[in-house]
Parts: sequence; structure tokens; C-alpha cells
Amino acid sequence: MEKLIDGKAISEKLCRALKGKVEILKKSGVAPCIALIKANDDPASEIYVSKKETLAKSVGIESQIYKFQPGVEQSYLEKLINELNCDPSVHAILLQLPLAEGLDSKKLINLISPDKDVDGLTSVNQGKLFAGEDCVLPCTPQGVLHLIYSVCASIAGMHAVVLGRSVIVGRPMISLFLNNNCTVTALHSKSRDVSKICSKADILVSAIGKPKFITKDFIKPGAIIIDVGINRIQTSDGKGKIVGDVNFEDVWDSVGAITPVPKGVGPMTVAYLLSNTVKLAINQNKEKLKNVVS
Ligand code: NAP
Repeated sequence: MEKLIDGKAISEKLCRALKGKVEILKKSGVAPCIALIKANDDPASEIYVSKKETLAKSVGIESQIYKFQPGVEQSYLEKLINELNCDPSVHAILLQLPLAEGLDSKKLINLISPDKDVDGLTSVNQGKLFAGEDCVLPCTPQGVLHLIYSVCASIAGMHAVVLGRSVIVGRPMISLFLNNNCTVTALHSKSRDVSKICSKADILVSAIGKPKFITKDFIKPGAIIIDVGINRIQTSDGKGKIVGDVNFEDVWDSVGAITPVPKGVGPMTVAYLLSNTVKLAINQNKEKLKNVVS
């Protein structure tokens, strides 16, 4: 198996295939469109939204961008989401998290129609995923699974350990592994013997946001390591850099395969955001698209 899992290259391949699909949809009168809502003054969120907008454009997906500063009224955002839910030209809605302090993100997320919930974050979609039912799958865990399958044809029966239990990564990841017949262990900040448990993992996914936390004593020789973490650390030149949760150099000799940070999970998350947008556009136009795409 490839030792370095090239998320960037895999995501680019996914986007090329999507571009072809979008062209077919457009010829049939359906132009996939995503609404991106940012309500904070976080520079990282600004970059993420702009990346999503650029990549959407590159595959032919339309985007509507709504940006608000802290202080925007909860009721204003609720009204916006209700309007977007009713707009047939918008197929997907994403709230860029975190929202500014004072906003009730749980309430806003659950206002999004489950049919337009492009990151699978509503309680309806999360519940369906946990129940093993058909639903909109959260983008990052979907990307993670794709990367794992790029180096391993079958994961049934493997022991997958997930570090972190957020609604956006950890929890759906746990369900996805279960639905793919893995034996799953979920770890969080209150877990004991974290490194010992990780060292039994055939597949280790870390989403905790702790720079270089995972060292070689956490690794079972030959294991597949997926690093979801995105952490900015200081460097001596003052520029700073992005690193993952895994101490890449320390674990390299022990792993079977590993994702880098950056260019690992990050690009896959955006690719699956676009892939979900296309899926939702198809689902919302089934009659129109009869006999066109599957
Ligand atoms: P989050 O909401 O930041 O929560 C962190 C999780 O890690 C919590 O469940 C926490 O446990 C757990 N945790 C913290 N310290 C731990 C420790 N020492 N041992 C075990 N578990 C520990 O999680 P998130 O939103 O999923 O983000 C996690 C990281 O992934 C961040 O760096 C984020 O930037 C990155 N991320 C990347 C992508 C991507 O596309 N690459 C997408 C999303 C997130 P408790 O529940 O007990 O507090």
C-alpha cells in the first residue's frame, strides 16, 4: 500500500469526476447551488469559505455567500435559513462553524432542512446515520473513509479507534466505521490509557486539535493513521505553520499509511462538500432528471 496518502491528489480526481456530472446536470436544467453562511470575524473561517467558493466555481457549482459580523441577530439568521430552505434554486446550505459568540448554532443547524443539510449536521441526519439509515453523510468523515479505502480494499473486522467525539467529525466517524463493519473504540478527553488503546488500532483517526499529540508509542506497527487535526503553531521565523494532531516524523517508520497535514483530510472535506451538493441537487430534482444521472 502507498505509505503517504495523498489527499490532495485524491480530492482532485473526485472533483474532475464531479465537474463532468455538473455539466450533465446543467444541460438538463439543474444548476447545483450551495449557500455558504459565515457569521463570525474569524480569519480561518474567511479562508475556508473562500476556498469552498473557489473550488465550487471550478467544478461549475454555483454558490451564494452570506457573510455577517459578530452582533448579527439570531432571528436574522433564522429568517435567512428559512428563506433558503424554501428557495428551489438553492440545494445545499452550510453554516461555517464556529459561529460568533451569542449565536445558538445548534438551533440554527437544526433549522436547515435535512434535505439541504450539506454537512449532515442536523439531528435528523445524525440520527439516521447512527441508525444505519440512508442520509446526508458529514463531509469530513466521508473524506476520511475514502482515504482509508484508497489504501485498503476491505476494513470489515478491523479495529478502528477514533480520537475526539465532536458532532462534525468524531461521532459520525464512529457511526461510519460501525456501518462499515469495523470494531470501534471512541476516545475523548476523559478517556484513560489513551496511548495504550491507540496502540491496538488497525486504523487510528485523530480529531482532537492538539498539535503533534500522537507519537510513535500510540501506533500499532503497520496501522493506517488519518490525521484530521488542523493546528497553527509558532515557528522561529514568526510566520507560524499548520500541523496535525500527529507527530508525523516521529511515527513515519511505524505506520503502514498516513495522511499529511496539510494536503490530507482538508481537501477531501471540501471535495465531499461539493459531492454532497451535487447529490442533494439530484435528490431535489428527481422528476426532472429521470433517465439522466444516477
Ligand atoms: P472539537 O469540537 O474541537 O473537539 C475536540 C475533541 O477532542 C473533543 O471530543 C475532546 O473530548 C477530544 N479531546 C481533546 N483532547 C483530547 C485528548 N487529550 N485525548 C482524547 N481526546 C481529546 O473537535 P473537531 O471540531 O472535530 O476538531 C478537531 C480537530 O479537527 C481540530 O484541529 C479541527 O481544526 C480539525 N478539523 C479538521 C477538518 C478537516 O477538514 N481537516 C474538519 C473539521 C475539524 P471532549 O469531548 O471530552 O471534550
